This record gives sequence, structure tokens and C-alpha cells, in this order.
Amino acid sequence: MKRRKITIVGAGNVGATAAHWAALKELGDIVLVDIIEGLPQGKALDLAEAGPIEGFNSKIMGTNSYEETKDSDIVIITSGLARKPGMSREDLLQKNKEIINSVTERIAATSPHCIIIMVSNPLDTMTYLALKVSGFPKNRVVGMAGVLDAARLRTFVALELNISVEDTQAMLLGGHGDDMVSLPRYSTVGGIPITELLSQEQIARIVERTRKAGGEIVGLLKTGSAFYSPSAGAVCMAEAIIKDKKRVLPCCAYLEGEYGLNDICFGVPVKIGAEGIEEVIELQLNAEEREAVQRSAEGVNLSIDNLGLR
Ligand code: NAD
Repeated sequence: MKRRKITIVGAGNVGATAAHWAALKELGDIVLVDIIEGLPQGKALDLAEAGPIEGFNSKIMGTNSYEETKDSDIVIITSGLARKPGMSREDLLQKNKEIINSVTERIAATSPHCIIIMVSNPLDTMTYLALKVSGFPKNRVVGMAGVLDAARLRTFVALELNISVEDTQAMLLGGHGDDMVSLPRYSTVGGIPITELLSQEQIARIVERTRKAGGEIVGLLKTGSAFYSPSAGAVCMAEAIIKDKKRVLPCCAYLEGEYGLNDICFGVPVKIGAEGIEEVIELQLNAEEREAVQRSAEGVNLSIDNLGLR
């Protein structure tokens, strides 16, 4: 099988840790890109030197140019500022907008057939920006947020019930912000809806903690935001694409009428495989869930309007 090429733009906390997970899984050869001279080269070399110990064969290189990223199959974009205490994801918009704009232009020029996995915040808005700037079809630009938010919800359910995280499943909708819409009816433990295992009060507490889980980590770290779980989320999506797994995961996708929403990148369940987003799955929502989705979409639309692209 031909070795796949995975470029990771941004060799900071999320980017370098994504390279770590991808190397451990031997998903392909990895190119780490950053604007700081020496940083991607140093991290790539250090990670490559872990190969003999861990027994992975990925070639890993770091660079400050896009030459070496040419013809990547997958590009994970993590470049930009991360949150500090007191900041919302929206506070990152102005600065990250410039960064994602220039990174996407270069990626589209050097890897015109790649699938972009966006990680930089504000996530839904940056996914929209990358879609428009790249000119790629909508299946080839996907944002990572739901996989992380679902993993957080699953973690809290497992902690509450003292059961294995492995047997948990969770589904969420909406923007990657405090308005995210957790769906307890569609979240299960060993196939049993959590609504049958936990009280309303317990579920409300878990949903609230999930909503604020990013901020909880920022508050603890003080100098940056979460990176182990976000990078694992991005690599999970890359693996689904590379292995054509056709997994069903909550991802940020471009919508054209699904869930009554148009011209927006928004978190929804999708089938993800070799073609990227192969299908958007529409769930039956009750009135309360529909209202929460609308509220979340209003916030994402306001943020996208700030890009001045529509
Ligand atoms: P970080 O500061 O550790 O790393 C960011 C890196 O991007 C830095 O090394 C910086 O030099 C680099 N960079 C800046 N401009 C660049 C450019 N033009 N080209 C290439 N590299 C450039 O931050 P982090 O913790 O890795 O977070 C990265 C981004 O991911 C942030 O925007 C953060 O908010 C976001 N994030 C998203 C999620 C999610 O769920 N989607 C979760 C966590 C973090």
C-alpha cells in the first residue's frame, strides 16, 4: 500500500501531539509545518527518534516551508492562537482569520487533492473560511470539534457510572462553543440510553460540564488550552479517512439545507471515509433540541458574518 502523507500545520501543543498519535498509529509519513524556525524540525526529529523505541515506521519531518508538504493526502490545520483564561473561542477570530487564510491558500496550491481537517478556533468559522478560501468541494473540508466534545461527555458519563469509557457513545450537534447541543437521548452505555441510567439532575450536570470542558482545562493550565484530547480527535478523523472506515462521528460540515440550515459549517453526525464527509446524517429532533440547534446556529452565523465572505 502506498504510504500516505499527512501534513500538520502548526507544531504547537495540538499539532505536535497529533503527530505523536498519528506516528504511533503508523497512519503515514508526517510533515510538521510552523512559522517558528527550528520548532517543527526539532519536534519532528525528537518524535522520529522515538520510533525505534515504540516501533513505528512513519517518516517524520519538520519544516518552515510548504515545499515538503506537496501532494499531502490529509492536512490537519492547528496553526494559530489558543485560548488563555478569560478568553472565549470567538476572541481568537481576528488573529486566526489571517493565519488560516494564508495557510489555506498555500495548502490548496501545494496539495490540491487533500482533505483538510480544521482544528483552529473558532472552529466552525475557521472551517467555513478554509472551505471558501480553498475552493475545495464540501466533502474535503471538515472540522474537528464534535469528536472531542463527545469524548468529554463520554468521559464524564463513565466517571459518573464508574464504568468503562469504551462502552460509552455520545452524540452532539452544533457549534464548538458554549451553545453546543448535547443529545442525551442519543448517548448510550452499552447501547442503553443514558436517560435510563442517570437522573435528570446527573445528566444536566454532565452536559453542563461538557459545555464548559474546554474552559475547565484552560482554567487549570492557565497558559494554553487542551491538546491531548483535541489532537486525538483530529487523528481519529484522519484514521477514518485513511482507512476508509466510514465511521459515524460528529464533525463540523458544510450544510446546504440539512437541519434547516444553509451556507454554514456546523457540527452534525456524518459518515466519514476515504472521500471525507460522505454523508450528513439527519437526526429526528424534538422541539427543545431543535430550538437549541437554532440558538447554536445563530452564534455560528454571527461569527461567520465577521469573515465578510457572504
Ligand atoms: P499553540 O500555541 O501551542 O500552537 C499553535 C502553533 O501555530 C504555534 O507553534 C505557532 O507558531 C503556529 N503558527 C502560528 N501562525 C502560523 C502560521 N501562519 N503557519 C504555521 N504555523 C503557525 O496552540 P495549540 O494549543 O496547539 O492550539 C492550536 C489551535 O487549535 C488554537 O486555535 C486552538 O484554539 C485550537 N484548538 C481547537 C480545539 C478544537 O476542539 N477544535 C481544541 C483545542 C485547541
